[in-house]
Amino acid sequence: MSLAVLLSCLWMASVAPQQELIDLGKQCQQAVTEIRSLPILKPIVWQITSKEKVRAYLLKVLAQQYAPGEMEAEQDAMRVLGLIPRSMNYQQFMVDLYMEQVGGYYDPKQEIFYLADWIPAHLQKTIIIHELTHALQDQHFGIDKFIERIKGNSDRQLARAALVEGGATLVMMAAPPSAQGSAADPSPTFAKAPRALRDTMLFPYVQGLGFVSHGRTQGGWSRIDRVYTDLPTSTEQILHPQKYFAKRDQPTSVNLAGIEKQVKGWQKIHQDVLGEFMTRQLLHALADRQQENQAAAGWDGDSFVVFKQADELAWIQLSVWDSENDAQEYLTALAQTMPSRLAGFTAQTHISKSCLRWKNDQGQAVLFERRAARVLLVENLPAAYIEPIRKAVWHAGE
Ligand SMILES: [Zn+2]
Repeated sequence: MSLAVLLSCLWMASVAPQQELIDLGKQCQQAVTEIRSLPILKPIVWQITSKEKVRAYLLKVLAQQYAPGEMEAEQDAMRVLGLIPRSMNYQQFMVDLYMEQVGGYYDPKQEIFYLADWIPAHLQKTIIIHELTHALQDQHFGIDKFIERIKGNSDRQLARAALVEGGATLVMMAAPPSAQGSAADPSPTFAKAPRALRDTMLFPYVQGLGFVSHGRTQGGWSRIDRVYTDLPTSTEQILHPQKYFAKRDQPTSVNLAGIEKQVKGWQKIHQDVLGEFMTRQLLHALADRQQENQAAAGWDGDSFVVFKQADELAWIQLSVWDSENDAQEYLTALAQTMPSRLAGFTAQTHISKSCLRWKNDQGQAVLFERRAARVLLVENLPAAYIEPIRKAVWHAGE
């Protein structure tokens, strides 16, 4: 889930000569410093780059940010949550997707702005202004940490990416009209990407734009400058900027430590925070954005763990909500996605609307249970494990 944001200092496009691009870049510099109300502190280093070099950079970043096996674990997590098809090679697809979309990037480690040599003319200024804003952000606030993977909390990582990309997108949009182009050319890889990957790729730009615009309206660019010393901590804050700028809603941390003791014979391969934004993606089977957004709203924190045994995948999530009502709404929405998200499971006689169970012919079970404003989800583990898991989770919460 975090792969999509690691490389997010890249921006849209797909063609141009060299010196002209460099000259154009220098012209854009003044526009950017004026719009963003920040001076350039030191000369910006430019380089023109090729597709081969960009691909090599992507692979290098991935190798730095993911230890061996972690990428496969993230792929398994995406699969068990139903966010990507089981047959998809996640890393390969993401690299292809970025290669299709990239027009340039700013490398905050080297402090060099790389301009792709294949950008179409109508997009050149747009991309240059966007990347120049990153260079400026870096000079003033140091954005190295924004491309660092936050292991175990990709929700927070996505929120950080939204600050940086939202800011660059706002400057890009405020630039003189000649600098604007259509944002995305027709892109076959993007078009065939699963919704969760498309939405996650766009999140920092689209929802980040909403967040930064909100803050700027409240207190100008200086208000946004201060956000860099007091970073957003969840996608919930990005989706609802008032939860950051007005009345701060900090996520509640949820503890599933030790839960693997109740899941004998299975390997714990991944742990993360889903967050409000990815909860919407999880509920995509509802095929009703309004209902998905409604069900994910009121999120206050969660933790999930993914398990593997041979080719079988399972997961457990504990989430906490602003109210019992919000928690129940999530549980009800989960139940509605059941037939399409997990095939072969039959609903059992339900004890109550706050405790729903399913079973399949292989003896595996699904449980969604709410207690007060918390919801426990267990999917695809042996039925015999359900009670020990319930006990461990609810007891720990008491
Ligand atoms: Zn960017």
